[in-house]
Amino acid sequence: MSKINIAIDGYSSCGKSTLAKEIAKNLDYVFIDTGAMYRAVTFFALEHNLILDGKVNTEQLISMLDEIHISFQFNSERAASDVYLNGINIEKEIREMEVSNNVSPIAAIKEVRKKLVELQQKMGESKGVVMDGRDIGTVVFPKAELKIFMTADTAIRTKRRYDELINKGVQTTMKEVQKNLQERDYIDTHREEDPLRQAEDAKVLDNSEITREEQLQLALSWVKEAQSA
Ligand code: C5P
Repeated sequence: MSKINIAIDGYSSCGKSTLAKEIAKNLDYVFIDTGAMYRAVTFFALEHNLILDGKVNTEQLISMLDEIHISFQFNSERAASDVYLNGINIEKEIREMEVSNNVSPIAAIKEVRKKLVELQQKMGESKGVVMDGRDIGTVVFPKAELKIFMTADTAIRTKRRYDELINKGVQTTMKEVQKNLQERDYIDTHREEDPLRQAEDAKVLDNSEITREEQLQLALSWVKEAQSA
């Protein structure tokens, strides 16, 4: 069976990465979490004091983009890839609320997107990739054989995200998580550069009321369809 690329986009905390990871495991494809890449740039900016009270020193960050090297390495304990910034594993750090609270303004910067989109396109050159993000079906792989656009009720997304963060040992509250999701969705859908939007040919998956297994089976049926098209 010839390999295809699968693009998964959608709002924050809809379970895009969970689904992408499960599809990749099932098909023996490579899963790439592009949100982790924007989070890595945000972590770099925070480390270099380029974000003060939510305001980004854009000019300085752009001048330092060549110093940012992002890579992934498979972590067998997690059965997923960890993100590395300049050779250092920052998978845990990028999930902290400080990064979540600053990532969307960073991801709205044209030069940041250009750098990461090029990297993502290279990663998908030989196909067999499941990539999740906000602009995968519209910008990164506009010709992906299968595009899925995910959505879910805000209250359900908040609760899922909150449980996930608490399980990872991150200190937060439901209120903080909800505010963060809503702010990120607003910035991500309203920015000028590659805003989050549903590709015309995307399959919509609202997982508010379905189980993980049901959503996986639905997605795998779409994969079959796309492979035989
Ligand atoms: O997927 P995740 O929630 O980790 O993404 C973090 C942030 O990175 C998003 O809120 C969005 O601002 C940005 N992002 C993006 N384009 C992508 C992936 C993520 O702008 N392809």
